[in-house]
Amino acid sequence: MKGLIPDSLVHREVASSLPRCGLCGLYKTCRSPKMPVYGRGGKGVLVVGEAPGETEDEKGRPFIGKAGQYLRQALREIGVDLDRDAWTTNAVICRPPKNKTPDSRQISYCRPNLQAVLEKYEPQVVVTLGKSALESVITPYWTGDLGGLERWTGWTIPLGAWICPTYHPSYLLRMRNPLMDREFRTHLRRAFGKKAPPPQKANPAEGVELIWDESEIVKAIKAMDREGGIVVVDYETNTIKPDWPKATIHSCALSDGRRTISFPWIGRAIAATGKLLTSSQTRKIAHNLKFEERWTLATFGHGVRNWWWDTMIATHCLDNRPGICGLKFQALVRLGVPSYNTAIEPFLSATSNGVYNRIHLADARQLLTYGGIDALLEYRLAMLQRRDFGYED
Ligand code: URA
Repeated sequence: MKGLIPDSLVHREVASSLPRCGLCGLYKTCRSPKMPVYGRGGKGVLVVGEAPGETEDEKGRPFIGKAGQYLRQALREIGVDLDRDAWTTNAVICRPPKNKTPDSRQISYCRPNLQAVLEKYEPQVVVTLGKSALESVITPYWTGDLGGLERWTGWTIPLGAWICPTYHPSYLLRMRNPLMDREFRTHLRRAFGKKAPPPQKANPAEGVELIWDESEIVKAIKAMDREGGIVVVDYETNTIKPDWPKATIHSCALSDGRRTISFPWIGRAIAATGKLLTSSQTRKIAHNLKFEERWTLATFGHGVRNWWWDTMIATHCLDNRPGICGLKFQALVRLGVPSYNTAIEPFLSATSNGVYNRIHLADARQLLTYGGIDALLEYRLAMLQRRDFGYED
């Protein structure tokens, strides 16, 4: 997990601003404080649990109680030996009294321990068991609400290592749900079947060209149209409803996979965009195309010609769980791009009047970069989804 995520995209402040280990006080009440990592890690997999249970605390070894036995058995069924093939640790390395679920404060106090483990062992896969483990591992990369565990399970998230969230075995023991038991095994098989770490990624912001000059914008748009490829269109606007009296588009980003441009909504750039959007040479992509369609209709009096793909609808068709269709979530779980919207997000959410946002107050460079990243990621996501559907583009 070291060095593979562009530094500018990682929220390292999460870890660096934390107090040192011991401040949560849990070490005072358990028998095996600060339980070390266990296992030989033969397959390069780190398994992260919640916290040592009673048996583990008594014997000073992770995953040997009932939940641990369940996990070991599930792994044996797929030919994996936990101690031989994995390293094991927990989100919180001291047992909380009465096996209480650790709270977010305890998890964040303990996160530097987990980070040290990630840096020392450099696993190629990290399996997180349950919500606490997920919270510990994913928080530095996801600034939004975590939501329920159900939206996270089963993804293999390419974040330097493959992050593979699944259920906690003690939850499965309580649920006695054969479908979940089967899913658990599928998740483990997927995680332990990885043959190599995920490919390194460039910072997506580096692939975005901000263009301010009207003539240069027009030139770039015309060139895209001439190429006749597949073009993502993404508007940034001051409200979601184009029919509100003061509704305006502030900027637009276009990506054809080779080039991603982001520009202010000014002068001749507007007409050039309108022309591109009605051209039959290019096929169009958006994330929730209804949005771009309505704004195009309101601005130009005509809709977009040649819609080809909607990454939001495709997400839902591939996996109909709630809470997974947002672009930022998909960017993380499918493309391994951590939250990139932190600076700009406050300006894009509606204010208390419930209609308009404060986009006009946002830093113009940040806004254009944000829109451009959106467009670029939509393009990449669309290509992954096309492959999932079996299209041979
Ligand atoms: N459950 C966990 O989450 N961790 C352990 O070490 C044992 C049980």
